[in-house]
Amino acid sequence: MELRICHLYPDVLNLYGDRGNVLCMKKRLEWRGIGCSVTELPIGEKAPLGRFDLFFIGGGQDFEQGLLLDDLRAGKGGEIKAAANDGLAFLCVCGGYQLMGHSYETYTGERFAFLGALDLVTAGAKERLIGNFAFETEFGAVVGFENHSGRTRLGPGVQPLGRVLRGSGNNGEDGTEGARYLNVFGTYSHGPVLPKNPALCDGILLAALRRKYGSAELEPLDDAAENAAHESVLRSLGIN
Ligand code: GLN
Repeated sequence: MELRICHLYPDVLNLYGDRGNVLCMKKRLEWRGIGCSVTELPIGEKAPLGRFDLFFIGGGQDFEQGLLLDDLRAGKGGEIKAAANDGLAFLCVCGGYQLMGHSYETYTGERFAFLGALDLVTAGAKERLIGNFAFETEFGAVVGFENHSGRTRLGPGVQPLGRVLRGSGNNGEDGTEGARYLNVFGTYSHGPVLPKNPALCDGILLAALRRKYGSAELEPLDDAAENAAHESVLRSLGIN
């Protein structure tokens, strides 16, 4: 077995170590003897997206998101949306998560028309939502770090990725965090999120492997260090 990962916009979307998610996915595949290649696709570079199995898009501030609009409109945006609808796997973090939605209206009044791959909209507010946070998912509690002005509201076409245990999540009001649509996973969680949430990482890898091979299982790994990091954040948030 083998997964081909495409890291979209590594040149502009990479906050708080988001790139570490790609290293984590690659390592957890290789430790099990599963092959993995990583292709970086920065602004201006194109490749047939259907040749990949798993996409990663990291976070970026409003400015960096604005830089991408021309490249998305030049064709990549439609291809990303088609890949999502085709069931290919995605992990999208914060600015990259917002990018998958319909639109983002910044606090200063700029309106970015985004991809509409995920049925959600985002509007910026003056007060940023910042801090370590945790949310409950089908993979157990997930911990991470959030820092966003955007408040995201989910439409009926997506499910929340989880329910907030501590912190703000999508908007600080409705208790939802992130979004799930087919094999697309969107979250506000930086950190990077995957190394200290191995169950979430394996859930995303399995989604990609099953999309590609029909069925797949992952051997358990020794996650003592990862779980210690996970527990430590939960404890710091007063959980457990
Ligand atoms: N520009 C977005 C916001 O502030 C995303 C920030 C981020 O990726 N951390 O809402």
